[in-house]
Parts: sequence; C-alpha cells; structure tokens
Amino acid sequence: MIQCPKCGSNSIAYGQTRDRPNASYVWRSRTCKECGKTFSTREYTLEEIAKLIDEGKESVVDLRNQCDDLLADLTELITQYKSIK
Ligand SMILES: [Zn+2]
Repeated sequence: MIQCPKCGSNSIAYGQTRDRPNASYVWRSRTCKECGKTFSTREYTLEEIAKLIDEGKESVVDLRNQCDDLLADLTELITQYKSIK
C-alpha cells in the first residue's frame, strides 16, 4: 500500500498521470489527504519488469536505462529536498 512519505497516512488522493515516451511505467502524482504532501509514484507491471530481466542482452541494456532514468528522478527529488532545508 502507498503511504504518505511525510506522515505515513494511507489516505492518498490520486493525481494526474504522465506518460513518458519509451517508458514502461506510469508516473503518477499523489496528494496526502491528511497533511497535503504531494509526491509521485511510478507504476510498473510485474510483467514489464520480468521482460526487462528475461529477454537477454538487449533487455539488460533496457533495464540499465530504466535504472538510469529512475536515478535521474531520484537525484532531482533529492535536490528539491536539499533546496527546502
Ligand atoms: Zn501525509
């Protein structure tokens, strides 16, 4: 279950989704109904992840690209946190 990263509440409102080109996930914005914190999630199908792992050499590259992509998002998030402090 998705929990608010700030207060831990399970009461989360779904926000807008965003499709990224060539991405095997749905990026979704969410807002905590308790404290109003907005955050985002990525939704992958397990099949999609299994495919990335299972299809041989090319898919390893895909998997690496996905990880790079995820790292880029996380770096951006960390930068945001740092600028708030
Ligand atoms: Zn919250």
